[in-house]
Amino acid sequence: MKVVQKEISIVTRKRFDFIKITKQIEEVLDSVKIRKGIVTVNVPHTTAGVILQEDDETIFKDIINMMEKILPLKNKYHHSHESNENAVSHVASTVIGTNVTLPVIDGKLKLGTWQDIFFVELDKGRNRTVMITIVGE
Ligand code: ZN
Repeated sequence: MKVVQKEISIVTRKRFDFIKITKQIEEVLDSVKIRKGIVTVNVPHTTAGVILQEDDETIFKDIINMMEKILPLKNKYHHSHESNENAVSHVASTVIGTNVTLPVIDGKLKLGTWQDIFFVELDKGRNRTVMITIVGE
């Protein structure tokens, strides 16, 4: 059993930036000799998330609309001392989730036909980190 951990850096541009990171994760997996196991992709942030989704702008727009509907900026938030935008970002991160786990089969990431991995910025654009942990043999 082998465990490999890597960190990658990304730069986000704005709130609700969906950044495809599938290739970076696959490159890390290709660089290690693990044929079967699991990959976990973790976002060590409280105002960002990571999802599996189809690479389609219209889906992102629908996700953004849904987030704006359930977390309106005009609502009252306890965390608003940092700003309502920031309060919404924290809650959105919990809704979106901060990790995904995928199987590794024959040395490859097992994604569905339409699945890609996306980092989702939920606050202002900035430097962000993605943690990759691969466990297998
Ligand atoms: Zn905050």
